[in-house]
Amino acid sequence: MLFQPEQTYAKLSPLLASPCAPTPVAEPQWIAFNQALANSLGIPAELHNTEQGLLLYAGNQLPKWAQPHALAYAGHQFANFVPQLGDGRALLLTEVLDNNQQRFDIQLKGAGRTPYSRGGDGRSAIGPVLREYIVSEAMHALNIPTTRALAAVATGEVVQRESAQPGAILTRVASSHLRVGTAQYVLGLKRYDLLKQFADYVIQRHYPSAAEAANPYLDLLNQVIDTQAQLIAKWMSVGFIHGVMNTDNMTLSGETIDYGPCAFMEAYNPAQKFSYIDRRGRYAYQNQPPIAMWNLARYAETLLPLLTETDNDTEQAIQVATAAVEGFESVYHGYYEQAMATKIGHGHKASEPVTQQLLERLLHLMQQQQVDFTLAFRYLGDTDSSRFIELFSQDTTSAKNWYQDWLASHNDSKLTVVKQAMNQVNPAVIPRNHRLEEVIQAAQNSGDLRPFNRFVQALQQPFEERQEFAEFMQPAKPSEQVTTTFCGT
Ligand code: AMP
Ligand code: MG
Repeated sequence: MLFQPEQTYAKLSPLLASPCAPTPVAEPQWIAFNQALANSLGIPAELHNTEQGLLLYAGNQLPKWAQPHALAYAGHQFANFVPQLGDGRALLLTEVLDNNQQRFDIQLKGAGRTPYSRGGDGRSAIGPVLREYIVSEAMHALNIPTTRALAAVATGEVVQRESAQPGAILTRVASSHLRVGTAQYVLGLKRYDLLKQFADYVIQRHYPSAAEAANPYLDLLNQVIDTQAQLIAKWMSVGFIHGVMNTDNMTLSGETIDYGPCAFMEAYNPAQKFSYIDRRGRYAYQNQPPIAMWNLARYAETLLPLLTETDNDTEQAIQVATAAVEGFESVYHGYYEQAMATKIGHGHKASEPVTQQLLERLLHLMQQQQVDFTLAFRYLGDTDSSRFIELFSQDTTSAKNWYQDWLASHNDSKLTVVKQAMNQVNPAVIPRNHRLEEVIQAAQNSGDLRPFNRFVQALQQPFEERQEFAEFMQPAKPSEQVTTTFCGT
């Protein structure tokens, strides 16, 4: 199988990417290597979990094909615009065409300072690296578009955070690292030619059909809106809370990126937030769709000069772009409705009142009684109703009534088949925060990677209820509950 490395984005303009070598580390050691992903990318065997591979993923010794660059981007962080952020601790090694001729970026994260590091050390602590490895691979197994984790290595060096912690480097794979913030950065350069070149690049790389549209840039905007609507609907349907939906953390490809203070909701609570830095709850669970729309408005702004060119009129361009962004609401709603209906086996009649009422009642009961979001939908797919009903211990009567109505709504179909299909979308195992903390503590405090490996293994088949991994299904006990997550930079 062919390995096809080639830089295209970093070559567009020196204004968009700066060449920058990784800073070698003292004593690299393996944490994890993703064999399946390496195979699909055609990575040569000598760069798998070998000594040579270790030196590559530590940034100590790069093969000729690696041409490391730090990418420039801007971004709205908690609604405040920062004109220059950029890869402060990440380096794009190369792009590569995989077995299906799809283009991916391979990036080291935590490989040392770059021209965009500002006050930072360019490094990562082991905790955030393990967290990103586990959660991004879990998201992939949950069929949610995401960046992937190819490798994790320990550096043998210490990084200073709230305390001194072991350092590590993650090798991230993404269908690109282009963000809403990247487009904002290009807009800020005030170079129409670059703006056009950038938009054309995004079209060519991610939305080639837009090139054929009557208005390619409007079509691009609509396609980005659509992929984001799909993504956020998927997040919502598994209770995922990203935690830092800044515009620099929103990809143009529609993949989830940057697993900082993210978490999966346990007890159903639409106002749930975890991120310690998100004091006001801007990025709480229920705010994710409107925030996505806000971010997409920022993206639309970057396309205005190009839309004006097509329309020959700024007012007209603003109107068209505004209408597109406002369209997010109904597009998102459609995906969300479909995803949630499928969770109760009503995918074929997602927008019918019976479906809507059942969902509304169920979510209301779950919220009232603080029922675990994941287990409620999973146990609904059981052969009998006992585990489901037991979740609603405060008021089993309402839960039983709901269950009877739900059964009745399926009287025309084979329930075993319906339940099997539900179990394909309602996971049994998700990366619960208290388990993540456990895994990180073991690795951080005693170098014990066994809990990490076991968790990764359990999460590879999230829709299987396997006895040997039963402990990963259970929500945190009150004493184990993690109520905040840190950015961990
Ligand atoms: P994040 O919170 O990971 O999305 O990062 C926001 C910005 O801060 C990005 O530009 C990062 O590259 C930068 N950054 C985060 N951590 C570090 C670090 N340890 N050293 C340098 N830059 C960093
Ligand atoms: Mg980021």
